Amino acid sequence: MDIVRLSSPKPLILNGQKIAADIVAEVRNSVEHEGITPGLAVVLVGSDPASAVYVRNKSTRARECGFLSRQIDLSADVSEAELLRIIAELNADPVVHGVLVQLPLPRHIDAKRVIESIDPVKDVDGFHYANAGRLSTGAIETALVPCTPLGVMRLIKEAIGPDLSGKHAVVVGRSNIVGKPLAQLLINANCTVSIVHSRTAEPEALTRQADILIAAVGVPKLVNASWVKKGAVVIDVGINRELDAAGKATLVGDVDYGQVSPLTSAITPVPGGVGPMTIAMLLQNTLLAARRAQQGAKA
Ligand code: NAD
Repeated sequence: MDIVRLSSPKPLILNGQKIAADIVAEVRNSVEHEGITPGLAVVLVGSDPASAVYVRNKSTRARECGFLSRQIDLSADVSEAELLRIIAELNADPVVHGVLVQLPLPRHIDAKRVIESIDPVKDVDGFHYANAGRLSTGAIETALVPCTPLGVMRLIKEAIGPDLSGKHAVVVGRSNIVGKPLAQLLINANCTVSIVHSRTAEPEALTRQADILIAAVGVPKLVNASWVKKGAVVIDVGINRELDAAGKATLVGDVDYGQVSPLTSAITPVPGGVGPMTIAMLLQNTLLAARRAQQGAKA
């Protein structure tokens, strides 16, 4: 008797680098053709090396797209009052359409108060209560939506197509920056959504039901093969810095890629998956804020 070996088809590796480059090119093209100059101001407090890299990348990409890009570097001991004064100036500046304060902030500054001081129409990170409220009530067309969840949605649609109706999506993590807004976007896309977090009993029992599984936790390789249903789409938001066997610094996701990828229909790598999408979506949000400002000025 012949033995027929059925091997699983290879998963689609979702190339965030390439998809993000396409989005950036679209944004640049819109700027050229619409005769609009979006303005993005990025505020960095202190000299945390990772934050400095993120901020530099955001400012550079914005310039490459023809934006007016302003980077404001403040020392770690800047007072909250001074930071709020600078934000008020940016809120009032008509050439600035997006204001972003890089998190985390030093302990002596109340991050919530700072975020709430940004004009919601310029809140291109989408963290202001007004934008969170619009997203959670389904008024997405008037909101600015957080960039990483927007990028994740784009990657999911790349894998599945535009219609996510009826899919069971399980989000691991409930932060205000990723987990919660992502769950709202998935509900809005007619998915059935479960949220798993640090207090969930038996998380694997839920994640094994997921057609779409997103990990946004910050625990290296938490999601292993026993968490995943065969054929699932797996999106790894985690960015964890670790030393490899040779003592070299390396980036690791929240998903054990080696174990999990053979089970999936599509998966994001780390690095090169969700990470590049976040900046692309920030540029898209800033263009959107600039278009709304232009329309508002005409109205
Ligand atoms: P966070 O620390 O604010 O939230 C982590 C969440 O994970 C919490 O809601 C917590 O309940 C949950 N959690 C913790 N341990 C858990 C466990 N054992 N099982 C289930 N849930 C658990 O983190 P965040 O800001 O949402 O970021 C999550 C990860 O995503 C981090 O690695 C971060 O670096 C990364 N991140 C990446 C991007 C990007 O652009 N790719 C953007 C933002 C965050």
